[in-house]
Amino acid sequence: MQSLGVEVIRARPRDRSRFEHLVGSLSVTIEPISYLYIGSAQEQHLMNEEELIKVLNKYGGLTSEAISSVKFEEKYSSFHTTNNVPTIPASSVKGNIRSRIELSFRARNGKTKSCFIRATAPTRPPVARLHGWRHYKIWGEVLMENRGWSCDSTRNQQVCLVCDLFGTNGLQGLISFSDFKGEGIRLERLDLEHEVNVLAAPPNSKFRGSVSFLNLRQEELGLLFIGMGLKVSARGRAVLLGRFKYRKQVGGYELGRIIYHLERLKLSEYSEHIKFENISINPGGSLEGEDLNTLVRTLVESAMRTYEGELDVKDEVSTIEKL
Ligand SMILES: [Zn+2]
Repeated sequence: MQSLGVEVIRARPRDRSRFEHLVGSLSVTIEPISYLYIGSAQEQHLMNEEELIKVLNKYGGLTSEAISSVKFEEKYSSFHTTNNVPTIPASSVKGNIRSRIELSFRARNGKTKSCFIRATAPTRPPVARLHGWRHYKIWGEVLMENRGWSCDSTRNQQVCLVCDLFGTNGLQGLISFSDFKGEGIRLERLDLEHEVNVLAAPPNSKFRGSVSFLNLRQEELGLLFIGMGLKVSARGRAVLLGRFKYRKQVGGYELGRIIYHLERLKLSEYSEHIKFENISINPGGSLEGEDLNTLVRTLVESAMRTYEGELDVKDEVSTIEKL
């Protein structure tokens, strides 16, 4: 298979200095349905308490000699935390949703609405079990598209649709994310393989956060829902997030399967209203519960119509299950 030269459609980013179309925010929960591991720069060292007391007595307290002679029992890679609370950072959530959208866009007639923000030159499909082969199994031929350079607003005033929505160098995105904070999570120690030990959030944990949006058209809000794995209801299908996500199992554990759950949509005072079927949300109003299912279904359909022939939404988890 050859790489395919594709032209990225670019235009001037829309005006951020005034309000138009939809402005508001989404309350979202990320619910792991397997273990979830989000890496952190720190490592957690666990030690035997008796051993620690012995060493501290010997050296008369927490001196540098004492610290260097402590034998650590085990070493676990920490879960990312903010103020000691297990947290999925905003950048991870944004990267996860954005890359799902980038990879779902397909070139039509040699043109595409999305660059690859981390452009890598396409290569031939990786051989099974070499680096990247699972990624290729899921996303397939789109990885052969050579979309050229990534948008960079400091060099070129025109950007692709996905960069207008999520931002790029020199351009604030129209969609922004909060950190997603864990609620009452007890991290568990998992011994995975070859001394890879991690502290992971167990299945059925909950991480809450919000996604705010500025000046989006209805179909673009639908595109955001597609990036979250939502289709016919406010609770999405399983998607992949975090380290080890491309592995069916590691050390007997499933990792990295999560669900995005839209809990509430709120429109700002400056927003246009949303109105269809029996749903009506005025500026300043909000929507919760059963009606969110109708909202998601309708806006996703609107996105599929607007980008007809340009979106190919893959079911990443079921591909991994079949490997
Ligand atoms: Zn771009």
